[in-house]
Amino acid sequence: MAQMQPGDFAYFEGGIVPTEEARLSVMTHAFNYGTALFEGIRGYYNAEEENVFIFRLPEHIDRFVRNFSILCMEIPESRDRIEEICLEVAQKSALREDIYLRPICYKDQLSLGPAVFGVSSAMCCYVIKLGDYVDTSAGLDVAVSSWRRLSDNAIPTRAKTTGSYINSSLAATEAKRSGFHEAIFLREDGTVAEGSAMNLFIIQGNQLITPPPNADILVGITRNTIMQLAEEQFGMKIVERPVARTELYISDEAFFCGTGAQVAPIRSVDRRNIGDGTPGEKTKALQDYYFEVVQGKVPEYRHWCTPVFS
Ligand code: PMP
Repeated sequence: MAQMQPGDFAYFEGGIVPTEEARLSVMTHAFNYGTALFEGIRGYYNAEEENVFIFRLPEHIDRFVRNFSILCMEIPESRDRIEEICLEVAQKSALREDIYLRPICYKDQLSLGPAVFGVSSAMCCYVIKLGDYVDTSAGLDVAVSSWRRLSDNAIPTRAKTTGSYINSSLAATEAKRSGFHEAIFLREDGTVAEGSAMNLFIIQGNQLITPPPNADILVGITRNTIMQLAEEQFGMKIVERPVARTELYISDEAFFCGTGAQVAPIRSVDRRNIGDGTPGEKTKALQDYYFEVVQGKVPEYRHWCTPVFS
């Protein structure tokens, strides 16, 4: 798990300060009720260009701002200003390595009572160094969780609300305590949703299959990236459809993807090997290509990479 480092910076109450100075009251609404919304955005260091490239920054900010309506968030910073703030925080950190940006819009009012309307909001954003979040080389041993994925009608899954990560934390903890690397959530109807903080793909022949946007998933930006790369560069057929639990066991390949998880091959599910129990060939090819793309090394997708330093 990523730890806070001294020297990290955060945007807080309108300015950039050392992260340790960005502190909230115990009475903050978001702390009491989980009423905050966030994004997770990676920046990749490109050694040849000695620059850090933020991957799909505009798409992350668009998702962030669009979801404000779910929690009735209103803040003074405009959409474009939020994008600038992310860049400014990264610049101020002066980190020339792989980084992770976390903008958060939160209910900052010091008041009692669960509500989203009529409670004031504010925005902050911090930056940390971040390497691998899960192993991306050996393949993961994962288990179907006994915790169900929360449903969109209970806590909206398409928004990255802080409160919803209790669901993720319970599943990830259960998996790890049982000797697995990660968990797979099923929905209340028993079909597959996603991992604790990552989307899931299975491969059957030339088909790249993933649950659809209304399957209680977070509609990931990496998911979208992988679907585009798989279709455009590898000629795969993308299929968004409900996935049954047992399909996980019999698929040729499976992998997780997400900003944090990147592209992480799955080698077993519930102690059943996927394929021959090692990362699949198509997954590895997609993963290699993804790592080139995020570092700004593929001209065709360079527009997805925003440089931090000029
Ligand atoms: N699902 C969940 C629950 C997540 O927390 C994340 C990480 N943001 C993802 C999927 C992947 O989304 P993205 O590719 O946009 O990071």
